[in-house]
Amino acid sequence: MEIFKKTKDVLAFTNQARGNQKTVGFVPTMGALHAGHISLIHRALKENDVVVCSIFVNPTQFNNPEDLEKYPRNVEADIQLLEEAGCHAVFLPEVSEMYPKNVESDNFDFGGLDTEMEGKFRPGHFQGVGTIVKKLFLAVNPNKAYFGEKDYQQLLIIKKMVELEGLDVKVVPCEIKRESSGLAMSSRNARLSDNAFNASTLIHEQLIWMLDHFNELSVSELKQAVEMAFDENDAFELEYVEVTDGKTLKPIQDRRASTEPRAFISAYIEGVRLIDNMKLS
Ligand code: AMP
Repeated sequence: MEIFKKTKDVLAFTNQARGNQKTVGFVPTMGALHAGHISLIHRALKENDVVVCSIFVNPTQFNNPEDLEKYPRNVEADIQLLEEAGCHAVFLPEVSEMYPKNVESDNFDFGGLDTEMEGKFRPGHFQGVGTIVKKLFLAVNPNKAYFGEKDYQQLLIIKKMVELEGLDVKVVPCEIKRESSGLAMSSRNARLSDNAFNASTLIHEQLIWMLDHFNELSVSELKQAVEMAFDENDAFELEYVEVTDGKTLKPIQDRRASTEPRAFISAYIEGVRLIDNMKLS
């Protein structure tokens, strides 16, 4: 597997592949890789001749400096996992490579996609995400890029950024990979104690519960029941539970108001912020 630290080198690699009529698939990550990330690599390998993964913990998308500092980093293990998966190249830029001038976000007009849920609780987060993914797309020049539905709001933001910037990259959504308990895999899970890891199945259980009761309860009844379940659990602090349209991310009050309803939960356990979501139809 090729390892690149400089934009010009990874771009030369992918330009050569594309010049030889090969397709390039790209999987951007922040590292601390797990089976969720690797499932994206596998999908990209199935659909492309050459696959590039990037590992970059992007400072502009962290609104909380402690979260940035504590974000798990394990590049050597990551490289091994990527090699085992059959990934062709990894791009590992320094902050100064991606932000040669100021470590600042651009200003995208995401048309309100960035003001719901994660956007409310993580101000500036999606401007940072849009900024870095645009930079990475320009650095790697892929045909297709793969994003997990685990970060569903992010996925819509990236699609919007591609549209706004007129980039010729197909954004491919990939299904959420879960632990056998149902917990969505996440780099942040590495920070959980065994107890918290076991307790954290509550998020997925509540999403399944919402799906099971979606046709018989109102949206506010569903949300209230989830709030109560979290209230009764001492380990967790619920940040939000929301039911929205899956395209606009606008909250819906009535289940008939959307053909693509989706439920979202964000909660803290042991100071670790976990998110998950599920289609409700
Ligand atoms: P991250 O390293 O957390 O920025 O994630 C990099 C990519 O992997 C994003 O597109 C995530 O949505 C995706 N991803 C993270 N966890 C999972 C998961 N459990 N299942 C599927 N994709 C995931």
